[in-house]
Amino acid sequence: MSKKGMQSVRGFCDVLPEETPVWQQAEAVVRRVLEAYGYQEVRLPVIERTELFQRSIGEVTDIVEKEMYTFEDRSGDSITLRPEGTAGCVRAGIESGLLHHAEPRLWYAGPMFRHERPQKGRLRQFHQVGAEVFGVAAPELDAEMIVMTARMLRELGLEDVQLQLNSLGTPESRAAYREALVAYLRRHEDRLDDDSRRRLATNPLRIFDSKDPEVQAVMADAPRLLDNLDAASAEHFAKVRELLERAGVPYEINPSLVRGLDYYTRTVFEWVSDRLGAQGTVCAGGRFDALVEQLGGRPTPAIGFALGMERLVALLREQGEPGRGGAPHAYLVVATDPGAGLETAEALRDALPGLRLQAHAGGASFKAQLKRADRSGARVALILGDEERADGALTMKDLRGDGEQQRLPFSEAVSHLQAWIGD
Ligand code: ATP
Ligand code: MG
Repeated sequence: MSKKGMQSVRGFCDVLPEETPVWQQAEAVVRRVLEAYGYQEVRLPVIERTELFQRSIGEVTDIVEKEMYTFEDRSGDSITLRPEGTAGCVRAGIESGLLHHAEPRLWYAGPMFRHERPQKGRLRQFHQVGAEVFGVAAPELDAEMIVMTARMLRELGLEDVQLQLNSLGTPESRAAYREALVAYLRRHEDRLDDDSRRRLATNPLRIFDSKDPEVQAVMADAPRLLDNLDAASAEHFAKVRELLERAGVPYEINPSLVRGLDYYTRTVFEWVSDRLGAQGTVCAGGRFDALVEQLGGRPTPAIGFALGMERLVALLREQGEPGRGGAPHAYLVVATDPGAGLETAEALRDALPGLRLQAHAGGASFKAQLKRADRSGARVALILGDEERADGALTMKDLRGDGEQQRLPFSEAVSHLQAWIGD
């Protein structure tokens, strides 16, 4: 095999044991908070028919135009690795009938795929936790979802993230506004990049989502969709703002916030950090009241968000979040018949369900085993020698403090370990 054949694909990353504890801890917090608000987990395929994404995300978006991993499978069907989770979630909801008689609150987690330029906080395989609620149009739900994400980020211990808010109105109010926007952009066409100039004719609102600084400067003075909302959307937005104020969740209105997908309507929001450079958005979402019907379901209002796990983990690590768990609590040194180690290790695991125990396998000198115990990151070495074995005892050696060593009957060793696991 060539050397390249043994390297990971660009933009696809391994998460190694050094990092997994932070991931697991973050995932546990996110799951707990979602459950506290009545959300239930769904597990969805990573591949969908290409058409699903074209019809939901929108043909004239970065994702559909240039970022999707689209293939023909062996039967000649066009399939795509999911670039986001909402489309599949709506598809599953319609297909299963789940959306018809209830107002389901669903969440999912897993990898997403976009062929973007890899950089800090931007990968080609990345992970999201997403959630969607179907069947509720009331602004209380928008507020509750945003309050929930605020709680999530707070309980994750994330510092310095700001909430940005905007409303995109309805597809009809956007159509009316579009003319004013296009007229403005025609006057500044020379400052637009090629992508934006092309989108002037096809999807001018998308230009707000441009990452080009010059284009962003043009858009900063563009007529604002927020000033052109239909009356019902304006009222909806006012209510969301009022509820957020009552809940004590500070926000900033960002009239340029349009999100990168066409299906959004009314409320959109992003939680942004300034510690991730240009890739500052950790969590983003909004309403998509027209999407279910657009994909063939009955008219069903909906709202959702997605949290980018890599960006979240990067922020937590930057804050010095070490993550608990990972390394074993104890390393069993087997200085007797090697087979005896397996028995003792099983007895320890029976007695202590939370114990992370690594038992030495294969013969090695006592000294060599202690060295491995130390390198494993364990806090304590449990030594099983001939004498311990004969007496039903274990010697515990502290690997992190003063190296204290004591020989204890098995049951006492278990209670010592129990106290540590609880820490
Ligand atoms: P951005 O504007 O940064 O490209 P986006 O608007 O394309 O983000 P969404 O589609 O809303 O992102 O996805 C929700 C979240 O998923 C983002 O806020 C981000 O945290 C994360 N995310 C999106 N794309 C990537 C990527 N390529 N690599 C890592 N995380 C990503
Ligand atoms: Mg993007």
